[in-house]
Amino acid sequence: MAAKTQITLASTAGFCPGVKNAIDKVLELAKNSKRAIYTLGPLIHNSQVIETLKEKNIHAVNDVSEIKDKNAIIVIRAHGIPPEAEKRLRAQSIEVVDATCPLVKHVHKTIEKYARMGHHTIIVGDKNHAEVVGLMGYAQGRGLVVSGPKEAASLPRLEKANIVAQTTQEEEVFLAAAAAAREKTAELVVSNTICKPTKDRQKETVELSKASDLVIVMGGKNSANTARLFQICEKLAPSAIHIEKEDELPPELLKDKKAVFITAGASTPTWMIEKALARVRELTGAKERSFLDRLSFIWTLAITSCAYTAAAAVALTYVCMKLEGAPISKKLLLLAGLFVLSLHLANRAEEKGTAAPDRAKKLLFIRFKTTTRLTAFLCGAAAIALAATLGWRVFLPAAFFWGLGMLYPYKLPLGFEKFGNFPASKDILTALGWGFVCACAPGIWHGSILYKSTHLAVLFAVLLVFMRSVMFGISHAHSDMIVGKENFYKAAGSKLTYLTLFAMFLFLEVIMVLLKNIAWKPSLAAAIFTGLFYYVALTLFFYFRKIPERITAETLIDSQFLILALSVWK
Ligand code: SF4
Repeated sequence: MAAKTQITLASTAGFCPGVKNAIDKVLELAKNSKRAIYTLGPLIHNSQVIETLKEKNIHAVNDVSEIKDKNAIIVIRAHGIPPEAEKRLRAQSIEVVDATCPLVKHVHKTIEKYARMGHHTIIVGDKNHAEVVGLMGYAQGRGLVVSGPKEAASLPRLEKANIVAQTTQEEEVFLAAAAAAREKTAELVVSNTICKPTKDRQKETVELSKASDLVIVMGGKNSANTARLFQICEKLAPSAIHIEKEDELPPELLKDKKAVFITAGASTPTWMIEKALARVRELTGAKERSFLDRLSFIWTLAITSCAYTAAAAVALTYVCMKLEGAPISKKLLLLAGLFVLSLHLANRAEEKGTAAPDRAKKLLFIRFKTTTRLTAFLCGAAAIALAATLGWRVFLPAAFFWGLGMLYPYKLPLGFEKFGNFPASKDILTALGWGFVCACAPGIWHGSILYKSTHLAVLFAVLLVFMRSVMFGISHAHSDMIVGKENFYKAAGSKLTYLTLFAMFLFLEVIMVLLKNIAWKPSLAAAIFTGLFYYVALTLFFYFRKIPERITAETLIDSQFLILALSVWK
């Protein structure tokens, strides 16, 4: 094995915006409608994601005639379809939802514009690809497809033409084809329609492939853009391999490699790329890191089992008790830990975000699934029993929030909507539940529920936990896990989410400054004021789209409460 291998992960890897948009659309439909959902052709070229979608009752058909259920919904995927085909589809008595990527639509408009002016359309792309079939439909019968400069050189003589690219085309190929087509046309309009996400991905791939001795390209074997990316890498790097899953990596390929670059096609989710990264790390330094690996697995279990999240809840309760001036009660700390552990573990057991769970998830949620569920239930029962010993005013709300949290992943009886169908419901419910056990319960128990300090602590805890939950949503979305609008980030969009997080941070900081200025527990206010800056660092970290692995992201997010507790520790 190489002594030290430099591993670089492409910053452009992961779903492209068009694929993300299409997946979000079908997931929203699946969530808000009980009707069957079909996509016209596979939504993306990635079998693992397709399997996950199937679990959510979203199936692919090749033709609308395959759908017998007239109450179903059919979705046009990101590649788009020819206008005639769309007309025929809309004439059927079936609801049509268009998930064509806006960047593909832009190509449709470009082709249409020049076709109306009498231009021929030359498309540089793969003539059998769904996107190209769709583009041809806009050329008003004067479309020609060429795969590259060689075919462009054998075009017939044309009076006037518009040359466009399939959005995932290699730029070098497109420009060479345009140069060859210029020789064949009296008047040529060159419309470079390669989309920006593809250009960025290719630019980075070219730069990093040249500097690496092995390039790993991840993506579906039937994905055209992944195949194109692989062709680029093959030309530039001494060795390159195209894989769909991390276990396809031959260990001998990584032997003595000094610089490994991992990139992926537009339909490869980030969580799959992270797995490849972990596998490469394992294969390039397994022997030296066997002890560290064991340690890292223990930590992964602590995070995956939500034990660290429970510790974070205990830490937040401690901070809230300090804010309220309540004596530190071990019973209340335990109540918060058990309550949060129970709900997070139970909800995580129902998560279906990824098709291929890692080792820790397999162990907890597949192999010992029943034991994990039972543990979650017993922890919850213990928390409620503990709440009962603190009086009915603690017991009743604790039981209410726990019941609500346990029911969260399921469809409710009597035709009630699933809680998860409401925008941002996950973040709001989490914030209220934590807010009660971490801040409100200590206030009730201490008898200070009517005091301003308790109101402040409840507001503080609710906002902090809401921010924590939103950050989890961001982290999951960055990893291309399948999440819906139950997350604030998905419901509100990126801009509003970051603005909200920043506004909440400012609001909390202003409160701390005001408290300090009126000499209310000045050292405590100052400590929290400083500790809150961790949030800014964390928010910026996610804003600049750093994609930490799941465990790193969860560790960073939940550490905020432990840092706050340490900053107020006496
Ligand atoms: S590759 Fe580009 S054009 Fe195609 S779906 Fe993705 S973002 Fe849209």
